[in-house]
Amino acid sequence: MATLGIDLGGTKIALGVLEGGRLIQRGRITTPREGAEAVLQAMIAAANEALAEAGAPVTAVGVGTPGPIDYERGVVVFAPNIARFRDVPLRARLEEALQRPVALENDANAAALAEHHLGAARGAASSFFVTVSTGIGGGLVADGRVWRGAYGQAGEFGHLTVLPGGPVCGCGNAGCLEAVASGRALARDASYAYAEPLDTPELFARWRAGEAKAARIVEAAADYLGQALADAQKLWDPEVVVVGGGVALGGGEVWLERVRRAFERHAAGWRTAPLLPARLGEDAGVIGAALAARALAPEGP
Ligand SMILES: [Zn+2]
Repeated sequence: MATLGIDLGGTKIALGVLEGGRLIQRGRITTPREGAEAVLQAMIAAANEALAEAGAPVTAVGVGTPGPIDYERGVVVFAPNIARFRDVPLRARLEEALQRPVALENDANAAALAEHHLGAARGAASSFFVTVSTGIGGGLVADGRVWRGAYGQAGEFGHLTVLPGGPVCGCGNAGCLEAVASGRALARDASYAYAEPLDTPELFARWRAGEAKAARIVEAAADYLGQALADAQKLWDPEVVVVGGGVALGGGEVWLERVRRAFERHAAGWRTAPLLPARLGEDAGVIGAALAARALAPEGP
């Protein structure tokens, strides 16, 4: 059984056909900037092309989208970083256009599902996936399934308050983890400290070169991440924690070790799960969306 996964992002839409544990076909287009209808049309065209070229019958389609989803109605409430994408009945529109059942899943949840079944957390009964990139997201998988929560917002790890009264977050709250430890927060703090625009790769380069100013910023952020992970461990107690995303990739094992130490320190004697680097990289979103679609097929995942 093959399923099509679509990963809707602010800059690109990635697609892939998953058969067994392998992507047998993949594609990528730039996300249109003209609003929801343009994004829908582009997505439908790319999906039809992928279905035609798949080389295997595709039974269902899954879409990973950023931001909150009304799962019951199949509506994307809004997608941060995509212009004018609000209350979009994505499931109905795609089912009509593609003539296949469509599953929607939050993008971090989709990546969590992918790492759980086919990536770093393979074999674990439960796993918590954290993505640290421009923003910070999370997803919990237990007994093979994403735990979405009653209101579809379980695993919104980036919006745990770690610094009360701290920098204001995109969500409106002050001191969210995302506001102090994401790629955006690192670039903001680095640009302020160095009084020039500085992105995360440059900040990490200066940190590796041993610059004290860069180290303070990188290590403070890693510490907040560890603090939030210790809370997540106590709340959900996952068997393993997987960390992915651009910042995690850029920071590498040295950064991860720093996070690990902070995680253990903040857990203060409570058991901590092994902290593993994500394995699927950028493919996690597409693979996870395709896995979400498997639940719709008669044979199940
Ligand atoms: Zn927030």
